Amino acid sequence: MSTIFTQIVEGEIPARIVYEDETTVAFLDANPLAPGHTLVIPKDEYERLNDVPADVATDLYDTIHRMVPAVEDAVDADATTVAFNNGEEAGQEVPHVHCHIVPRFEGDGGGPIHAVAGEAPDLDDDELDEIAAGIESEA
Ligand code: AMP
Repeated sequence: MSTIFTQIVEGEIPARIVYEDETTVAFLDANPLAPGHTLVIPKDEYERLNDVPADVATDLYDTIHRMVPAVEDAVDADATTVAFNNGEEAGQEVPHVHCHIVPRFEGDGGGPIHAVAGEAPDLDDDELDEIAAGIESEA
């Protein structure tokens, strides 16, 4: 069963497509958090960022880089929040990688990306060193 976004790519369900190239597509979110809320996806179905091959990741970032100023200019936004919900526990509902470009306006009542996590942990220097070393060894 293909994802709803693959169905958009295949033209099986309608969407307001605002940009398309060989490997990526951008379209308006059906339930926008702000006017101009746009999703950017790879055409091929990958559930998480972790699954996206390097060449597709490059194409995806190129399209995000193109679309951020396009969206901001089109709706006269002051800024944008640009984010992925990467995995179900992070709030990802559609299992097909997608970048949210959410226009932001002065006084819109929204918060920064720091608001998405739970209570901030209190980590000492040793714990931070250990975490940094663990990430560095995986990179
Ligand atoms: P996420 O929670 O990160 O998986 O976000 C999924 C997003 O997809 C939500 O913001 C939905 O409003 C949006 N969405 C779901 N179905 C459609 C659709 N058919 N066309 C456009 N956007 C959609």
